[in-house]
Amino acid sequence: MRAAVLTAFSQPLEIQNVDMPACPPDGVIVSIKACGVCRSDWHGWKGAHPAIKLPHIPGHELAGIIEEVGPNCTKFHVGQRVTAPFILSCGVCPDCTHGRATVCGHQHVIGFGNPGAFAEYLAVPRADFNLVPLPEEFSFIDAAGMGCRVTTAFRALVDRANIQPGEWLAVHGCGGVGLSAILIAKALGARIIGVDLNEDALAYARKLGAEHTINARDTTNVGEAIRDLTGGGANVSIEALGITPTFTNSIMGLAKLGRHVQVGLPVDEHAHVDLPLLDIIYMRQVSLMGMRGMAASGFPALFKLITEKHLDPGQLISGTIALDQASNVFVDMDNFAGSGIKVIDRF
Ligand SMILES: [Zn+2]
Ligand SMILES: [Zn+2]
Repeated sequence: MRAAVLTAFSQPLEIQNVDMPACPPDGVIVSIKACGVCRSDWHGWKGAHPAIKLPHIPGHELAGIIEEVGPNCTKFHVGQRVTAPFILSCGVCPDCTHGRATVCGHQHVIGFGNPGAFAEYLAVPRADFNLVPLPEEFSFIDAAGMGCRVTTAFRALVDRANIQPGEWLAVHGCGGVGLSAILIAKALGARIIGVDLNEDALAYARKLGAEHTINARDTTNVGEAIRDLTGGGANVSIEALGITPTFTNSIMGLAKLGRHVQVGLPVDEHAHVDLPLLDIIYMRQVSLMGMRGMAASGFPALFKLITEKHLDPGQLISGTIALDQASNVFVDMDNFAGSGIKVIDRF
């Protein structure tokens, strides 16, 4: 099968003919019809993701059709349209059985520790617990574009921050996950401020419902600007880049009792931050929340919100590309250029 393979960090992916994966006894083989290109893939491409060993097939925002079913997989059949979270949890440990599958200690992570979906086929083990039937009204491209980003934004806003109508949300980093957060927060009745360095991304943010945007390149004190615009600070703030300056902007822009959700993956020098413990955490009583992925069990509520509110996840997708163009998206991410989500739909 054809696959885009990372053979050297920060270099173009190589299109190779590789062996078809074997079907796991408890899983399926998915014929991949679409796969999103995400900033987490970019972290991997740069060599900053601890789980990635070369050579490696990236890609974790997949949608496709089941090609083969293993003997111990009982809930799925050949020909079914599916998607999957990037964290495949074990399904049997206390975390998994108590609704906390994203912190399962026995994870199979698609596109990071395990092969990904920048390929014609992907083996998905543990399918009964992790695979998600894709409703007919969602195209493969929309589902892949929703991939980790819409699901992550949804869980960050609803399950973690419990955002309420009329609350102010600040989104730091208006890439795929930031724009997804804007789309969902708007539907939930929140008021939104988008922050980015890229004017195209800010224009996208306004189109999707941001009431104000701030270009952090031209603003000396982003936290203060947010507190001014909102009359005291954002109630919820999402850090969607994983870098220290945006983390600081996020917590400094929060209102008293505000909730920061760390969505961006903080690696290298960004893995540790200075925290104004007295002023922000103690006096202003701000909460810091971690956030990584959404389990398969969260998908029905997201599908329901999208259907009921007539959201169009396709609005987040700025273009489709062929398998050999994924590296170009990484180069754009390197330069904070480009906007919206790119989806591979030609393998
Ligand atoms: Zn588990
Ligand atoms: Zn992702």
